[in-house]
Amino acid sequence: MKIKSEKAYEDLRNERPQFWNNLSYNNKFDMNTLKLEFEDILDAEKRLKRFAPFFQRVFEDTKKTKGIIESKVFKIEKASREIEKYEKIKIPGKIYLKGDHSLPISGSIKARGGIYEVLCLAEKIALESGMLRLEDDYGKLAEDKFKDLFNKYSVAVGSTGNLGLSIGIMSAVLGFKVTVHMSCDAKEWKKEMLRSKGVIVREYESDFSYAIAQGRKEAQRDPNCHFVDDENSKELFLGYSVSALRLKKQFEDMDILVDQEHPLFVYLPCGVGGGPGGVTFGLKWVFGENVHPIFVEPVQSASMLLGMVTGMYNNISVQDIGLSNRTIADGLAVGRSSEFVGRFVEPIVAGFATFEDNELYDLLKILYDTENIALEPSALSGFKGIKMLLSTQEGKKLLSDINLENKMDKATHLVWATGGRMVPKDVMMADYNKASYKL
Ligand SMILES: *Cc1c(COP(=O)(O)O)cnc(C)c1O
Repeated sequence: MKIKSEKAYEDLRNERPQFWNNLSYNNKFDMNTLKLEFEDILDAEKRLKRFAPFFQRVFEDTKKTKGIIESKVFKIEKASREIEKYEKIKIPGKIYLKGDHSLPISGSIKARGGIYEVLCLAEKIALESGMLRLEDDYGKLAEDKFKDLFNKYSVAVGSTGNLGLSIGIMSAVLGFKVTVHMSCDAKEWKKEMLRSKGVIVREYESDFSYAIAQGRKEAQRDPNCHFVDDENSKELFLGYSVSALRLKKQFEDMDILVDQEHPLFVYLPCGVGGGPGGVTFGLKWVFGENVHPIFVEPVQSASMLLGMVTGMYNNISVQDIGLSNRTIADGLAVGRSSEFVGRFVEPIVAGFATFEDNELYDLLKILYDTENIALEPSALSGFKGIKMLLSTQEGKKLLSDINLENKMDKATHLVWATGGRMVPKDVMMADYNKASYKL
């Protein structure tokens, strides 16, 4: 083990929130050297478009957007001012919220990657059967004969909750048999919702890595079972990446500039890494050297940061250094990062921030009271990224390394709100009531 930064490693072990200026970050990195290409993102976007008529037919909440699963960018001026008070800092530039908490179908960022992977599988099977052609209206996939076709196959996935929700809902609607292997973090309401849709839910006392291993093992016994592998999947990754193409258009419509004089910082809650990694991959293609992605993790589950700092990637877990992997940010409760994502995104992630759980409740309350936006705890962690970037030595070092210290007044901070819409009101209010901050 070759530790890249002793201080970062000590902060990890001692559960101290930190910002880490990623030594491997190269904001002018040549994206053409990566194994996935821009064409792959475009291909994913096209596939999602082919399915748009299907979505409109079966999911009421996709009608407004004509079958495109996309979220809005929110201006959050009131919340921004309150967060400055809460954090006791002045935040130069403007803060926006990417509203994936409100995504149709499953109400989290997993409605991008998770759903996309199920579509890849369904399309492949349907094309091979001869019942579907690429140029057909995919609305016909809602017909019973396709349900009968897909019912000969099954889908399995391991999850801390939201991925299971997305894969479960999507697979069940198409007609697949589906089993979700849930880690101990998974919320009860998510399991109940899945069972009500005919999904088989297996529960484990252990964490996400174990749930995945169980799912993988069971799936291997059945040749007609597709395992959605959150630790390795390229399809999940590409599904997330399409968001960048859409964001470019949204920023243009809102007159939000991203260029040499107007840097963009994007704060992404990180679990296993696929979501933030895929989004980062897309963003770097779209905004190039002017976008700076920052991954944010709970101190107890900082598996991506641990993998980077030690150069061990997925070969080390937070439990190996004495952390618990217990966090209220259930979507981020991942003790070991993705095998494929860590190395892949290392040169294109500007920095990493960690935070303590209790702060999420305060932020949840601030967002709700000022903007009437209800987020789940994981989805608030991006805000801690801003604070850590602006107020730590390491954060300031990053800004000086990329020559942006004097341009921050024109910066855009985009906090990726990764989940929330599906959370039952009483569960949300219980979290709200745990806040200690008074507005
Ligand atoms: C899954 C999830 C993330 C992180 O995505 P990973 O692919 O696990 O890194 C962030 N926020 C929420 C709410 C999630 O469900």
